Amino acid sequence: MAQDSVDIFVIGGGVNGASVARDAVGRGFSVALAEMNDLASGTSSAATKLVHGGLRYLEHYEFRLVHEALAEREVLWAAAPHIIWPLRFVLPHHKGLRPAFVLRAGLAMYDYMGGRRLLPPTKTLNLTQDVTGKPLKPGYRLGFEYSDCWVEDSRFVVLNARDAANKGADIYVRTKVSSVRRDNGGWIVELDGEDGRRTVRAKLVVNAAGPWVDQVITGAMGKNGARNVRLVKGSHLVVRKLFDHDRCYIFQNSDGRIIFAIPYEGDFTLIGTTDEDYHGDPKDVRISDGETDYLLKAASEYFAEPVTRADIRWSYSGVRPLFDDGASAAQEATRDYVLKLDGDAASGAAVHVFGGKLTTSRRLAESVLEKIEGVLGKKGAAWTKTGKLPGGEFEPLSFDAEVRRLHKDYPELPATLTRRLMRLYGTKARVILGSAKTTSDLGQHFGADLFAAEVDYLVREEWARTAEDILWRRTKLGLRVDQAQTEALESYLAGKAMGVAV
Ligand SMILES: Cc1cc2nc3c(=O)[nH]c(=O)nc-3n(C[C@H](O)[C@H](O)[C@H](O)COP(=O)(O)OP(=O)(O)OC[C@H]3O[C@@H](n4cnc5c(N)ncnc54)[C@H](O)[C@@H]3O)c2cc1C
Repeated sequence: MAQDSVDIFVIGGGVNGASVARDAVGRGFSVALAEMNDLASGTSSAATKLVHGGLRYLEHYEFRLVHEALAEREVLWAAAPHIIWPLRFVLPHHKGLRPAFVLRAGLAMYDYMGGRRLLPPTKTLNLTQDVTGKPLKPGYRLGFEYSDCWVEDSRFVVLNARDAANKGADIYVRTKVSSVRRDNGGWIVELDGEDGRRTVRAKLVVNAAGPWVDQVITGAMGKNGARNVRLVKGSHLVVRKLFDHDRCYIFQNSDGRIIFAIPYEGDFTLIGTTDEDYHGDPKDVRISDGETDYLLKAASEYFAEPVTRADIRWSYSGVRPLFDDGASAAQEATRDYVLKLDGDAASGAAVHVFGGKLTTSRRLAESVLEKIEGVLGKKGAAWTKTGKLPGGEFEPLSFDAEVRRLHKDYPELPATLTRRLMRLYGTKARVILGSAKTTSDLGQHFGADLFAAEVDYLVREEWARTAEDILWRRTKLGLRVDQAQTEALESYLAGKAMGVAV
């Protein structure tokens, strides 16, 4: 039964909103969160998906951010070792870059700034010998290899929301916050959603609407003009697999910008990102021809075999809601987050969240909680530094052992399926598989290795409603199913929504 009155109402189900809801409910506050579309349907599913210190932010002297972000890599990996894992990045050296000794010193700093325990350190590569030199144009001799991590971004959001709900938070999806009014030292929040209109009272509101944060201030909250964020668009291409090893490349382009080429979903390579100011509606963001050409050209500068339009399998774009610090170039605007407290306990308080990264979302939530506790008083202690996300209840280095254990318990299921499920759901893969012995026990088949058992779990536990939620955010099976299979999934979901046995 949803609560009519809560301590904290969170607007926005991206990584920042979901992390705040999780932290707050875990400290004993009553919490509700509303997301107007699907969880992670905004910026939080459009990232490069790195949990990283941000090597290039060192060049912009963002030491606070880099320090905090580096330290988060192992904290988040330990919390969710199924959806977060280490990656090694290869930086090929060439004449256009800073001298090799300067880069080596920068990487040594990166290694030692942020409490690295399990991630391996930087090393120097001879690209004429190392396998990572093979796909590159001839002439690259020296490279550096360093550590960061990968995160399944939209799953990270959903798992934060799931943990929050497990601890008692109400999570409303496809529910827009249409009005937020001060009333009697608190707020009246009006929701427009799946179950029609509804009103919830809250002592404090957290505005974590990402690129829409200013729209919430001027629209739902009815304030005069707000211009706190600068929207900066970033796009990615998913292309055919460009190389056969598991390391990524970080390339510096002739304009000084950086792009990554990352192994993606087994059979593909992810190339991104661009960085340009955006003035449209965040929901309409799409890759432009200019960005496509830019990314293809930048990758082709380095790879021996040119990357062309014919290699593109998919693309996605998102908008970074960066705090507007007045920087002239989009790539120079700060990636750090800024929080603003509006009002107090007597008048009704709101915390607005500007900027942030997937990497720093847990720390951002702790900072929001400090502000909240300043208004509502303290309830519980900070806890998320050692808390696990659902499915992540195993040691960071034990992922392969967990896959082997799952496969041993389900020997007749394809090893590719058990591995994929362990990657997405961790220990919860067993909830999906239950007593199944073979794939025929998993219900209707929707193409690739997607069966009804997984779909039902996603609807029941992870707020999935549409084929897109399942194929592009909870999983990336959209890369492997065709139109007819997508339609079959849609009609299955429609049948479920109407309570029809299909
Ligand atoms: C191209 C690109 C690459 C990036 N790469 C990385 C990376 O590699 N590593 C990293 O750490 N970070 C990265 N980031 C940054 C990171 O993705 C963002 O900082 C983060 O996702 C922002 O999350 P958010 O919760 O603030 O916003 P969002 O994810 O956009 O969430 C806000 C949510 O609020 C909802 N909402 C808005 N208005 C309302 C309303 N009235 N009622 C209800 N709901 C509402 C929206 O639907 C949306 O889902 C990248 C960003 C981009 C764009």
